[in-house]
Amino acid sequence: MNKISNHLPTAELQALDAAHHVHPFSTQAELAERGARVITRADGCWLTDSDGETILDAMAGLWCVNIGYGRDELAEVAAQQMRELPYYNTFFMTTHVPVIALSKKLAELAPGNLNHVMYSSSGSEANDTNLRLVRTYWAEKGKPEKQVIISRWNAYHGSSVGSGSLGGMKGMHAQGGLPIPGIHHIDQPDWWNEGGDMSPEDFGLERAQQLEKAILELGEDKVAAFIAEPIQGAGGVIVPPATYWPEIQRICDKYEILLIADEVICGFGRTGKWFGSETVGIRPDIMTIAKGLSSGYQPIGGSILSDEVAAVIGATEFNHGYTYSGHPVAAAVALENLRILEEEGVVARFGAQTAPYLKEKFQSLADHPMVGEANIVGGMGSLALTPDKASRAKFAAPAGTVGYMVRERCFANNLVMRHVGDRMIISPPLVITNEEVDTLIERARLSLDEAY
Ligand code: PLP
Repeated sequence: MNKISNHLPTAELQALDAAHHVHPFSTQAELAERGARVITRADGCWLTDSDGETILDAMAGLWCVNIGYGRDELAEVAAQQMRELPYYNTFFMTTHVPVIALSKKLAELAPGNLNHVMYSSSGSEANDTNLRLVRTYWAEKGKPEKQVIISRWNAYHGSSVGSGSLGGMKGMHAQGGLPIPGIHHIDQPDWWNEGGDMSPEDFGLERAQQLEKAILELGEDKVAAFIAEPIQGAGGVIVPPATYWPEIQRICDKYEILLIADEVICGFGRTGKWFGSETVGIRPDIMTIAKGLSSGYQPIGGSILSDEVAAVIGATEFNHGYTYSGHPVAAAVALENLRILEEEGVVARFGAQTAPYLKEKFQSLADHPMVGEANIVGGMGSLALTPDKASRAKFAAPAGTVGYMVRERCFANNLVMRHVGDRMIISPPLVITNEEVDTLIERARLSLDEAY
């Protein structure tokens, strides 16, 4: 029998964890020294740890628990599906009811002509699918030279070899041989850090036009696709100036470049609408989804393809897929999650009522002496920390030192807020109440005061 339980003392759980569990994106030596916080339960927007502390989760886990924790309906659906059909694959001319139902629902929800879903268990895998898929698409159309995918520095598209290469995280590229060939990065639309003396509007245009320059340099006949998050999440919630996306769409249309919207974070209500593409006004050919698709209750992701892309790919055998593509339990849970998000009006209410309230309160933090910009779209917010607002100066300490310090204060004040360099990020569950928003802002302000 497994004797490791919630009832063991925290220090013992931490020691076991550090001894045998290698954490993602963590310094293992630091974990061994201080111990990881052991989360034992969660409900709504609140986590409980092994010391009985209750913590407000302003990150919805990793930007995924849109529906909030503790929804029994999802547990029921999972248990029922496990009893009925715990697993079957979707390879070789077979299918099952949960994946049929989920695909139909996603086709209804996704904008425009995005009507066909290819599944994975994560966003990384879905972007790996996209990488092979767009190249195959062009080869099938008689243009096998169209191979290059353009992405952006500081984008995050996942951690696998393919998706990590699509991403533009220099720290990731420095380890393990990324990026693979055939991927070209342009600059991100981060006006706060990189805009200099330009107006946000001019800067947005300049950054979008880098796409056109890259296409012309690489050769129009060589470029397969452009991939981007409607609003960059893991890069620090970089909200692009309003001029950015219309120009990107114009360029993709002009040069026949497939547009891949990576909606792993932005999808399923996160930006205040069902999809970030709707918020920023673009018409992607392919959409990457994961996270909020199941609110994190089951690992599931996918690529939603336009009618055109699906028709081309569907004409031949695309030699690609995962054992767990369209896993019945994950599909059933995702479908139930979408039902709740829609029928209980979670997305609609968040967009119409909670998001405006959250925006007002979040932006009130901009009067703090350490906060330059307080930018938020729907439920994706970012505070740019600075020693001098007027000049948008950086701290003398190495980048990320102050952000880390504020994050630690938040942690001590039982608020999960993430830091990306010297930006503080939020992405709370969409079911957050106004009262909980107030608590979030109070704890964030207290943490900023303590770090100041
Ligand atoms: N794409 C985006 C925009 C993401 O934010 C993430 C994860 O944070 C991914 C892809 C990778 O998803 P996963 O961690 O499920 O592989």
